[in-house]
Amino acid sequence: MQIRKIKKVIQAKPVIEGAGVRLKRVFGHPEVPEFDPFLLMDDFHSDTPEDYMAGFPMHPHRGIETITYLLQGSVAHRDSMGNEGRIEAGDIQWMTAGSGIIHEEMPEESKPGLWGFQLWANLPATHKMMPPRYQNIKAAEVPEFVPKAGVSIKVICGELADVRGPVQEIVTDPEYLDIRIGVEKVFEHRVKAGHTVFAYVIEGEAAFAEEASQYTPETLVLFDAGDVIRVRTGENPVRFLLISGKPIGEPVAWRGPIVMNTQAELDAALKAYQNGTFIEQV
Ligand code: MN
Repeated sequence: MQIRKIKKVIQAKPVIEGAGVRLKRVFGHPEVPEFDPFLLMDDFHSDTPEDYMAGFPMHPHRGIETITYLLQGSVAHRDSMGNEGRIEAGDIQWMTAGSGIIHEEMPEESKPGLWGFQLWANLPATHKMMPPRYQNIKAAEVPEFVPKAGVSIKVICGELADVRGPVQEIVTDPEYLDIRIGVEKVFEHRVKAGHTVFAYVIEGEAAFAEEASQYTPETLVLFDAGDVIRVRTGENPVRFLLISGKPIGEPVAWRGPIVMNTQAELDAALKAYQNGTFIEQV
């Protein structure tokens, strides 16, 4: 059993997105293809409504899946498939844009503020134009798995022992875990060979692999090849997201919210959006 070493450490950086939302980008366009099958991850975390109230008004997506996991606050959502709802603390929205979706994501003013993550997972060429799909999972539907004393894992996507996350049938076979580890613990977690695996620290601190450095919130650790992720806490507990997926290994043509394989497909998407034929009529 080979413990995966740390390949890269990234600190999330402030950016302005949507209609003027101040958030932190963990990784994105410059990192392609290092996180394959993942394209982008944002951390929106603010107690100041001015940072997030502008939201993300109507915009298109094609060729990807967006996974939104909220820890605090709420986000109102509606889309071109007729879905309408609210993502609240602990909820997950797993949206497969496929051939095309137009939606808006509007944070609502709340105390103590807004905190959540949006991850973009790429789709392979065979699935880029699949029918759009939308899974809204409430916090209470997310099972918790306790592998040993002092470790608890919310299983959003994936299967641990006989605990199966509510998000299923995703092409890139992802695992999405929200893990809490108490003080002075060592935790090892088996991951699939060949999968891209990263941890994103959200509270406390921990050391990864066999290194001594402690990593703190808003830090991402990307792992090298191997079988097992190793995490060690000292005098503080930690909470982190552990995310993995099977690399697609195809060319990436990316413009804004649309990610295809070729420039011609991007041009076609843009033209369809301008023509009003972007959304396939049912
Ligand atoms: Mn969106």
